[in-house]
Amino acid sequence: MALREVLSKVVSGSAGRLFEGPVREVVSDAVRDHDLASASEVDALRRRISDLDQRAAALEQRLAALERRAEDDALALAEARTRVAELEAAPAPGPEAAPPAVCQVPGCGGEYRSKGFCSAHYQRWRRGTLSGYVLTDGTVQDGARRFKVDVALAGAPAEVTGPDDARVVLVGGAPVKAKAL
Ligand SMILES: [Zn+2]
Repeated sequence: MALREVLSKVVSGSAGRLFEGPVREVVSDAVRDHDLASASEVDALRRRISDLDQRAAALEQRLAALERRAEDDALALAEARTRVAELEAAPAPGPEAAPPAVCQVPGCGGEYRSKGFCSAHYQRWRRGTLSGYVLTDGTVQDGARRFKVDVALAGAPAEVTGPDDARVVLVGGAPVKAKAL
């Protein structure tokens, strides 16, 4: 409805309830003519913006949580890489790499200390009072006699056998070069 018609209705005395609707129409016409948004459109836009704000806030929270998780994952990854590097740098486990868990003296079963012995047998071996093994100085006791073998064999099980004039020193069950002392 054109403004002129509304004005003519007001002028002709047909105002009252009729007045509101046409004015609204005129206002919306003017708004449309000037390419402006109506109040309801503005409200709708406000609601939409508010809704988008909330969704953006929710997305920001999710992003922050993901970033924290990514940091945690990065830390875990770095730790795992360090562990792998440590394991790779460590010598491969093998029969000679790992010391025996128990004392080598038959029937002892004591907790391993050093050179194949438990603490008690290690002390006796150090003092030279443990028979049946190459002692720290590379000697092997044979009753009242002694034999000298390679000092590198110290701590290995040793046995002296054979006739009195042809004694043989066995270390680890195999004959070795030995010099009577
Ligand atoms: Zn022992």
